[in-house]
Order: sequence, then structure tokens, then C-alpha cells
Amino acid sequence: MKICEIQCKTVLIKSKLPESDYCINPYVGCMHSCAYCYARFMRRFTNHPEKWGEFVDIKINAAEVLKKQLTHKPKRGVILLGSVTDAYQPPERKYGITRDILKILLRYDFPISILTKSDLVIRDVDLLRQFSACEVGFTITTLDEKVARSFEPHAPSLDKRLKALKVVHEAGIKTYAFVGPILPGFTDLHTIFSALQDKVDFIMAESLNAKCGNWENLKEILERDFPSSLLFFQSRLNKEYWAKVESEVRQLSEEFGLSLKNFYKH
Ligand code: SF4
Repeated sequence: MKICEIQCKTVLIKSKLPESDYCINPYVGCMHSCAYCYARFMRRFTNHPEKWGEFVDIKINAAEVLKKQLTHKPKRGVILLGSVTDAYQPPERKYGITRDILKILLRYDFPISILTKSDLVIRDVDLLRQFSACEVGFTITTLDEKVARSFEPHAPSLDKRLKALKVVHEAGIKTYAFVGPILPGFTDLHTIFSALQDKVDFIMAESLNAKCGNWENLKEILERDFPSSLLFFQSRLNKEYWAKVESEVRQLSEEFGLSLKNFYKH
């Protein structure tokens, strides 16, 4: 794993994603190395010869840059922490860039939304609970640890994620689960929704976008670890299948009393 410290010029950027007005990414690259990662296009903006998932650039001056950007009084809006990286991936334990960013955002009390796979977010509960508007989401693609090790090789275990969701929720912070991308034949929605009860305020779900340069990675993993599932998986990547999945998601949300905020279909 190649880890480099870099200087950034801006850190608060306008978001093109729904549900957020700005994004902050304290790192470039992500050690979690998920096979379905939609952020791998970010590699183009680096000089790294390493593959996506094999390098992380630490924006060492991110807090200072943010402080300066906020003196220009940007319009108030929701800031998503971690749109093309995980703000709580392993180097955060040592560098604390995300924590420093939170300390600055707290002074301005911007609404924030965090999406992570790491239980390290628990460390920052003391800061998060001071925001007037804060939500913390965990990505849950499967609850099968063996499947997760194949598709999200270096992300924290699902057991840790569920426990962290509970801790953050019980600390009085709004929590959500991002159920996605849904992997045909691997994402057991019933089991996931059942495990989320009493841990989240709402959920979001997402179909798999196999068109955005990820299919080769997914295929490689399916061939290596789950060869008998490859045909099934591939044959489900169509509109009819996702329409069925969406209706299952809606029905299970009702059954388990989970508020479904959005189902993203690609
Ligand atoms: S945690 Fe998110 S950003 Fe990191 S590799 Fe996985 S999908 Fe990509």
C-alpha cells in the first residue's frame, strides 16, 4: 500500500450527488479496495501507477484549507464527508484529518452527512453530537463476512459496522444504512433489514451499476471465489430484475418498520 502526504488547494467542493450540497474528501484513494467502488475514476487525477485500492494520498493541509474556504462564507448546505473515499479508512487513526475537519465545521455548524464502512467513526461521537444536523451512514452490502471479504477485502467486518451503527444511534446521532450496491445472489435483503432494526433512522438502497468500469473487477472476483454464481449474477443485471428488487426493498422496509428515503436505480 502506497501512502503519500499531499497538499491540496481546495477541500470543500460543490456536490453533484443527490442529498448533499458539498463534498469533502480528506483522502484520495481508499484502502478498503471494494470491487464495486464507483470512485475508481479518481485515479485519473493522480500520478499513481498503483491500482485503485493500493494507494492513499493524505490531504495533510485539509483543515487549514477548509478554514480559509469557510472565511469566504459559502452558502449553507449539507456537506457529505466521503463521496469518493472513506473518511474513516485506516490512515485516519494516525492522521486525524477527518477529526480536524469536523472541529472546523462545528464552528460553522454546517449540516453534515458521513458515509463510511468504518467503526472508527465512534471516536468522533463527542464532536458529531454537537452538530445541529448530523447523520452517519454505514454501507451494508451483505452480512456474510465471507462474501464481504471477497468484495470489500479491507473494509471493517459487518459485525463491527452493525455494532458501530448501534453505538452512534444510541449516542443520539441520526443514523442510516446505505444498502448497496445490491449484489445479485449475495445481498440478502431480508437478513440485512432485520439486523438494521433499532439501529437506524432511515435507509437508502442502490442497484449495482455494472457499467461504470467495475464489471471486470466484479467478474474477476466471481470467477475466483464464486464461479458457480457468475452466470446467475450476470443474467440479473437488467431492468426487470431491478424493478423486482426495488419492490422487495419497499415491501421489506414496511415489514421491518424502516423508513426508506431513496432507492437509487442505475
Ligand atoms: S469504502 Fe467506498 S470509497 Fe472506499 S473502496 Fe469501498 S466503495 Fe470505494
